[in-house]
Amino acid sequence: MTMVAILSGAGVSTDSGIPDYRGPKGLWRQDPEAERLVTYGPYMADPEIRRRSWRMRLDGPALSAEPNAAHRAVAAYERAGNALRVITQNVDGLHQAAGLPERKVLELHGSARSVVCTGCRARSSMAEALDRVRAGEPDPACRACGGILKSATVMFGQRLDPVVLGNAMSIAKATEVFVAVGSSLQVQPAASLAGIAADHGARLIIVNAEPTPYDPMADEVVREPIGTALPALLDRLR
Ligand code: ZN
Repeated sequence: MTMVAILSGAGVSTDSGIPDYRGPKGLWRQDPEAERLVTYGPYMADPEIRRRSWRMRLDGPALSAEPNAAHRAVAAYERAGNALRVITQNVDGLHQAAGLPERKVLELHGSARSVVCTGCRARSSMAEALDRVRAGEPDPACRACGGILKSATVMFGQRLDPVVLGNAMSIAKATEVFVAVGSSLQVQPAASLAGIAADHGARLIIVNAEPTPYDPMADEVVREPIGTALPALLDRLR
């Protein structure tokens, strides 16, 4: 059985109404004020930044978005018994929402569906935290220790979880096919996974509307829209 690894980036979720936030041309990078709301130092130092950050989440599409054809095709591919791991730069949880088992997904940038306490590390649900914001707590504190809560995502200024990154690198080295889809492959270290996979003999397939720095080392580059290109590609890999 061919082992396939998929690196999914922002482009996979744009059909679900989630814009590219953190890519080089993403919304946050275009807007320094918005970027401060998701940057660790300012977030921890300034209660007003936190209040605005929670309000931004209330208004955002993250919790209401639905999986699209690409997420469904990936989940169906795994459900059919194919060997698959997904490494995602997205924090929206839509691969899992489409039915992909949690253990098959590595979330390089964490999850916007959970919150974590910066004091005691306790995790709880984002939906519950947003309910508290709606109910009049503009900057809800940890119920256990009173610490500052944040989205369980990797904010700017934070390192990726070394365990998650290590697992992603192991997968990149071991996989036979590495599909980078909807990623500009410009944000490191996620992008380097494509190079690691190719260096270790994987067939590298890039599905992205725009050129990426890794196109020259790819075996195949697909420019068609992800919602049709990814299901067709996975059918071919079966
Ligand atoms: Zn706590």
